[in-house]
Amino acid sequence: MTRTVYVDGRYRPYAQAYVHAEDRGFQFADAVYEVEEVKGGLLVDERRHLERLDRSLAELAIARPMAPGALSRVLRETVRRNRVRDGIVYLQITRGVARRDHAFPSPDTRPSVVVTARSLNRDANERIAAEGIAVITVPENRWPRVDIKSVSLLPNVLAKEAARTAGAREAWFVDRDGFVTEGASSNAWIVTRDGKLVTRPADHGILRGITRTVVLDVAAAQNLGLEERRFSVAEAYEAREAFVTSASQIVMPVVSIDGRPIGNGAPGLVANALRRDFHRHAETG
Ligand code: PLP
Repeated sequence: MTRTVYVDGRYRPYAQAYVHAEDRGFQFADAVYEVEEVKGGLLVDERRHLERLDRSLAELAIARPMAPGALSRVLRETVRRNRVRDGIVYLQITRGVARRDHAFPSPDTRPSVVVTARSLNRDANERIAAEGIAVITVPENRWPRVDIKSVSLLPNVLAKEAARTAGAREAWFVDRDGFVTEGASSNAWIVTRDGKLVTRPADHGILRGITRTVVLDVAAAQNLGLEERRFSVAEAYEAREAFVTSASQIVMPVVSIDGRPIGNGAPGLVANALRRDFHRHAETG
């Protein structure tokens, strides 16, 4: 089946899904994005994703390209045309096409919109979750506004590649004080020896993950003790459990960090229970 990509008002075959050479997303990474899970053909937590998108656009003063209802229809139509049952839908909005100049172009420049959708292998993901993943740590080297979901992801790309080279699936950024910020494409969590769930507050040091927000609800429903605070790499090495959260991985157990086994080196009970209950708390529609 040929994949279909939405580009600026048109559904195009994958091989013809072009953006302009002077699109500011391409030239300057002057763009924001969202990734939503698709489950059973339905979008998961769309409302929260579109709210976060609005915030990212506002923070960068990129105009909203269309009303949320219209955007929602494009997301659903892209999912439908690509026959995605279980997978992800990706949305990117750039500041648009303009002659290359760092400062903003004229305010009537039309933002560009691209939407792709693709299937993920749910069984393969379940197998990975059953085994857990390895994580490495890398120095935090991103700009301070990682709370904005912008496509300026080069440090994340390099961190992920370093992880892959080391035989791991995720890299955790570590700030100058030795505290974990987040993963290259996920939020980071640990469970302490005394059973407390710990994750960094969603200040400007991390992206406020939608999965993270829902997992906080799941944890409350499961009466887990929660501490929203920074944790160090040293504390993570000693943790009973660790895991990451993101729209494409939901809750993914971490079984080693920098080659050191976490807990007993197998996925933890807390991570497994959060993963099991996640979709009962997420909004699906
Ligand atoms: N942090 C970063 C840097 C990410 O790229 C992502 C997702 O891609 C997340 C956190 C998790 O966010 P969400 O749960 O909304 O997917």
